[in-house]
Amino acid sequence: MNLRILVAGGGIGGLAAALACARSGAQVQLFERADGFGEVGVGIQIGPNVSRILTRWGLSDALAQVAAFPTHLQIRSAVTGNELGRLPLGSTAVARYGAPYATIHRADLHSLLLAAVQAQAGASLQLHSELRGFSQSQAQVRARTRAGDWHEADALIGADGLWSAVRQWLLDDGMPRVTGHVAYRAMVPQATLPQPLRSQHVTVWMGHRLHVVQYPVRQGQWLNVVGILHASLPAAPDSSALPLDGWDHGADAATLRAALTGMASPLQELVHAIDHWRMWVLCDRPPMTGPRQQARGRVALLGDAAHPMRPYLAQGAGMAIEDAAELGHLLAGADADVGAVLYRYANRRWQRNRRVQARAIRNGQIFHARGLVEFGRDLALRVLGRRLIDVPWLYSH
Ligand SMILES: Cc1cc2nc3c(=O)[nH]c(=O)nc-3n(C[C@H](O)[C@H](O)[C@H](O)COP(=O)(O)OP(=O)(O)OC[C@H]3O[C@@H](n4cnc5c(N)ncnc54)[C@H](O)[C@@H]3O)c2cc1C
Repeated sequence: MNLRILVAGGGIGGLAAALACARSGAQVQLFERADGFGEVGVGIQIGPNVSRILTRWGLSDALAQVAAFPTHLQIRSAVTGNELGRLPLGSTAVARYGAPYATIHRADLHSLLLAAVQAQAGASLQLHSELRGFSQSQAQVRARTRAGDWHEADALIGADGLWSAVRQWLLDDGMPRVTGHVAYRAMVPQATLPQPLRSQHVTVWMGHRLHVVQYPVRQGQWLNVVGILHASLPAAPDSSALPLDGWDHGADAATLRAALTGMASPLQELVHAIDHWRMWVLCDRPPMTGPRQQARGRVALLGDAAHPMRPYLAQGAGMAIEDAAELGHLLAGADADVGAVLYRYANRRWQRNRRVQARAIRNGQIFHARGLVEFGRDLALRVLGRRLIDVPWLYSH
């Protein structure tokens, strides 16, 4: 019997889930509330743990056509500009982990997953279809679209992001928390930058209560820049007032530039060379505490709906894709006991997701350190270098 699966959300997680489930033989219906598929112009890093899955899904050529493959990751002090440590990527990452470290435009990753879903037998997509009402029984799960149509299936996957409606219905555990960190993001053609500002590697600039990350995308032709600041703006809102599509505003470059006053001149020059920025107020949830936060009965959560995290390990979309791969793997050959499969999925995923969420929080503290902690960090990076920067438990998964 072909299992019937509903997927809420057509972001990177939802598309990956639809692809993985349909590849395992399920009949998948994906519902996306937006009128069209489109992603904002920002970049995303993909570790070998993620590119390995894309390769298994037959997407390595598509990835190679649109991604960049940085030569190395360099950590620099935002204050002095000095290099603190370096991790070779490129062929070294492939030799060590059997898969590349890639950096990619979000829209390109989304498009290649979308094309794969559209070409995959058993998967169908519906735009302009927000899922709003849910119910589950021993026998089935039901979800209602905004237009009022009910859809029945064996399982529902909530891949509807940070402000997940599926999660609210399933767990009723409140809204995500505002972290007090704000991300400024921009992407520019490298050709528009002065030569010394162009680069084909990942640079992490560590400052005081801030850091900046830059890396190439689109085969190295564009540069993605993300600056993260501690900021109290906007004030922590009443949770009921949070817009369910999160915050994504045009940003005033002056705020970011002011925060970088006195920092190393190459960093200031980069930020001054870019005029158009977008701003995200970063939200997350505390690290997961058990499998019941990721599945109950015939309903499972995936990606940001399950484990929204700070972006300081660059693995939010990565964990969504890992979730999807695990789900597809467990569904292959599964019988009708969907609840048991989803429980196994949650049981196999939650501790890793928890670890990545916790490490991302810790990275933020290390990246933004001052005083003695900063001194110890810089010393450790100089002495241990790549051994401190590499994350084998993450990348070799
Ligand atoms: C500054 C920053 C940098 C980052 N950098 C990286 C990085 O380098 N590497 C990395 O791996 N991750 C990174 N991330 C994290 C990554 O962007 C997210 O973890 C990832 O996009 C989550 O994907 P998702 O599909 O779970 O959720 P989303 O992308 O939020 O997708 C959810 C989808 O569901 C739809 N939807 C919502 N509600 C409904 C509903 N009721 N019915 C139907 N559809 C619905 C939405 O319209 C949306 O399309 C970064 C995040 C930030 C903020």
